[in-house]
Amino acid sequence: MVDNRLSPHGGKLVERVLDPKEAPGRIAGLKTVPVKGQTVRECVSLAYGFFSPLEGFMGRADVDAVVNKMQLASGYVWSVPLVFDMPKQQIDELEIRTGDSILLTFREKPLVILEIEEIFTYDKELMAGKIFGTTETKHPGVRRTYGYADHFLGGRVTLVSEPIIREPFKRFWKPPAVLRKELAAKGWERAVAHQTRNVPHTGHEWLMKGAWFASQATGVLVNPVVGEKRAGDYIDEAIILGQDVLREAGYFREDVHAVSLLFWDMRYAGPREAVFHAIVRKNLGCTHHMFGRDHAGVGDYYGTYDAHKIFDTIPDVGIYPVLTKEWYYCPVCAGITYEGLCGHQKSKQKFSGSVIRSIIQDGVKPPRLIFRPEVFDVVMSAAEEYGFGSPFVTERYLAEAQPVLTMPDVKK
Ligand SMILES: [Zn+2]
Repeated sequence: MVDNRLSPHGGKLVERVLDPKEAPGRIAGLKTVPVKGQTVRECVSLAYGFFSPLEGFMGRADVDAVVNKMQLASGYVWSVPLVFDMPKQQIDELEIRTGDSILLTFREKPLVILEIEEIFTYDKELMAGKIFGTTETKHPGVRRTYGYADHFLGGRVTLVSEPIIREPFKRFWKPPAVLRKELAAKGWERAVAHQTRNVPHTGHEWLMKGAWFASQATGVLVNPVVGEKRAGDYIDEAIILGQDVLREAGYFREDVHAVSLLFWDMRYAGPREAVFHAIVRKNLGCTHHMFGRDHAGVGDYYGTYDAHKIFDTIPDVGIYPVLTKEWYYCPVCAGITYEGLCGHQKSKQKFSGSVIRSIIQDGVKPPRLIFRPEVFDVVMSAAEEYGFGSPFVTERYLAEAQPVLTMPDVKK
């Protein structure tokens, strides 16, 4: 079945990366502003069109429309603000004005040119309340929002050079234009996306398999998010290699499974973030996106299936949401089964992330029915190679692991 819903959000894939020959001339003489973390990742994702139709950081009209109407000023559905913040004091010191272009740098290397179209302020409490449904600072997205500086700079960004992606992430780095070609070459007319920040257990595996059946997809695109890490998270190396080995070990056939990464710092905005994930994966060339229980949630801020319900309340975003309930182990069925099918609700044994984590922590191989031995082995070797001995983020990992992406020098 050919699906015609393959166009990017807004109709055109954004790609704003300078020709290496032009770069030295374009950045010469620009004021520079060092940036890090989330901003770096968002610059790269913006420039490669992951966030099409956005061409840069939002101005006030877009932020306002996103906050109040869940759409861009142009009318396209959009659910999460993308802003570049800067303190007034720094703006004044550098004498930055609307109409200027400035060079954002990362680790002293040129990152993007930002053409400043607008300098504005915004009520952060209003933003947090509308986006997250709460203004409690216990919510990590609210904290992130309150952490923004007092002013925002809106404008288009242009990436100065192609980024350098370190191992083992390099082979998973596929900008939308590249990935779209690869999916087309595979004949994936119907691709179902899986958002993850987890090492997969068999519950995740069956979530993907179930969504593949439900959407009659040609393939599953696993798209882990790589962003800010906190102590205790799985290291990104374990996540991406653990997902990839499901295919290498044959749990998914070679022709129905692929893994690529997304630079994104989770907002934990629950339903609003689900809409954002759908749009990004539409830009990647997927026709479907699976959403399980408590998608992109945190604590008890959202109802278990709020991220399902939101799709009934917004216009069609051009990618089909595949809404699934829970997969779990049932001792009566003697296997992994689905909440929507199995009648032994009293016997069900939910996958507990914390139980699986503690098993992994102890280095004991879990039963293959709940955790694949190949995944376990890959996670353990990723721990040795990249995690200073641990598959979980430690203080040492936070301090010493190299950034996943860096920028090269620009040769004059
Ligand atoms: Zn059962």
